[in-house]
Amino acid sequence: MLACALAVGGLDVEVLEQRETPTLRSRAIGIHPPSLAALAGIGIADALLERAVRIRAGEVRCDGRRLGALSFERAAPAYPFVVALPQYETEALLRKRFEQLRPGRYHSGVTVTGLHDRGDAVELATTAGPVEARYVVGADGPRSRVRERAGISWRQLGSRETYLMGDFADPAPGGTSAVLYFERGGVVESFPLPDGRRRWVAMSDYLVSDADSVDLAALIRHRTGVRVGESLGVASAFAVQQRLAERMHAGRVVLVGDAAHQISPIGGQGMNLGWLDAVALRPALQRALLEQGAAASALGDYDRNRRRAARRAALQAGFNMAMGRPAHGVRLGARNALVRGLTLPPANELVARAFTMRWL
Ligand SMILES: Cc1cc2nc3c(=O)[nH]c(=O)nc-3n(C[C@H](O)[C@H](O)[C@H](O)COP(=O)(O)OP(=O)(O)OC[C@H]3O[C@@H](n4cnc5c(N)ncnc54)[C@H](O)[C@@H]3O)c2cc1C
Repeated sequence: MLACALAVGGLDVEVLEQRETPTLRSRAIGIHPPSLAALAGIGIADALLERAVRIRAGEVRCDGRRLGALSFERAAPAYPFVVALPQYETEALLRKRFEQLRPGRYHSGVTVTGLHDRGDAVELATTAGPVEARYVVGADGPRSRVRERAGISWRQLGSRETYLMGDFADPAPGGTSAVLYFERGGVVESFPLPDGRRRWVAMSDYLVSDADSVDLAALIRHRTGVRVGESLGVASAFAVQQRLAERMHAGRVVLVGDAAHQISPIGGQGMNLGWLDAVALRPALQRALLEQGAAASALGDYDRNRRRAARRAALQAGFNMAMGRPAHGVRLGARNALVRGLTLPPANELVARAFTMRWL
């Protein structure tokens, strides 16, 4: 996203990616209205919308009954929905667009192994030999080597939760609603995907790394009574960690995305937050390149604003996870009453804005 935005802005940019071939791992699916605007800015929103499913509403259920519903129709005038597309498809669209904008400047199979900020430029050590650039952006994920080599520390926010996730055939394809089952044993979430699929995510008591899609289907049935369709791919277990870098830039090195902040997937914000970093970083980098004297303030503003957005996203994700924890007795009653209140006017408009990332 950032490379495309910089190229559209007329800047010279290269991407170094350690993978030889793209990953097909299941990760993000939800793309929110501010991100759709960013995708429109680089010219791929239409291609993405053609392929993605539009989620227009969300419903919360417990014990076989509906607790409340939330419509996204009024959350953002230009894009009154959240869209769902597997991350590997979205990434393929971004790579294709960058190739159109800067042919031959995406280098796969090149790992960054070290860096030295000389003051006037950054020297990178890579498996394909040295590279020099006026600025280096670490978009290298939670285990960022760029962050580590720039000496930027990384701290844990909040608690750790574990989930199981998998895609199944949708017995009633064509749905445009997300469903959150706030059950006694823990939350189960279900989202429509293209090609008659649904993504299911269930909170687990511990990291069940040897679980398969049969185990996930049984857990969903046990908690919600829903029989999922045929399994389409391997189920995966993941542990949620929320972490934030102490800074998002040091000299001529800048961080974006998960390299700077890792946000729980519950609520589907992480990828979107990284894209919104990119939207903010493009003008900051342009200014830093044009006016050397303004670099510290442009990148300082970027750092403050985007770390504030990341803290907010982490708080929201923490709230989402807390709402989905196992609940019984008084706690269950209080949680369900809160859900009913949040899905009714006037709170529902604010909640819909939060869930479509309008405040980030
Ligand atoms: C199970 C799951 C579900 C999720 N669901 C959602 C969702 O619905 N919505 C949402 O918004 N987010 C979601 N996320 C989060 C989202 O996947 C991440 O926020 C997003 O992938 C971060 O993108 P990134 O480019 O910053 O980092 P990454 O996707 O981690 O990409 C980093 C890239 O850098 C490369 N790299 C690393 N080190 C080097 C090096 N030394 N040299 C060269 N290249 C290197 C890697 O190969 C990789 O391609 C989910 C995450 C998970 C795990």
